[in-house]
Amino acid sequence: MTCVACDKGRMKHGRTTVEGRYRGRVYKVQASAHVCSKCGYYLVEASDTPELMRNLSDAYRSEMGLLTSDQIRGYRESLGLSQQRFAEYLKVGIASIKRWELGGVQDASSDEHIRLKCDAAYAAANAASVKRLHEEATDLRVFKEQIRLRHTPMGMTADTALEASELLGVRAMWAAVSRGFEHYA
Ligand SMILES: [Zn+2]
Repeated sequence: MTCVACDKGRMKHGRTTVEGRYRGRVYKVQASAHVCSKCGYYLVEASDTPELMRNLSDAYRSEMGLLTSDQIRGYRESLGLSQQRFAEYLKVGIASIKRWELGGVQDASSDEHIRLKCDAAYAAANAASVKRLHEEATDLRVFKEQIRLRHTPMGMTADTALEASELLGVRAMWAAVSRGFEHYA
């Protein structure tokens, strides 16, 4: 087939850089297409479209900080699970697994869920973060109770102590409160 753009080169099926849009953003990705040997003009056939769309969605997912189709399939394979078993493991429909691996973009909460269920280091960091949140909430609760009892540190009013806790963080204020108690003792 002679190139329709330059009328000189021949169109050959191969790999080239294709520019495409995904969710309103423009990306350049590698894809299969008929490419002119002389001018580089390319045509993407319908049969090559699914791969192009997947590569465009992966470019979009990378930019958004989401797992790519390869990363999701990689997680599934590293756990030794079929798409059906992986769907059961994540408590989603198998259509979601197929869609994510073929180029459909998972929403942010699904992305988080996949990481928590498939990445041990990510899950451990999350567990540590939840523990920290509980500790901070407990500190805050105890701290507020102390202020309610007017045991404010260093002669502060309750309002000043609460304002300071927002500026310094509950942890630092709690340390100050403890020092205050020692001072009063
Ligand atoms: Zn050409």
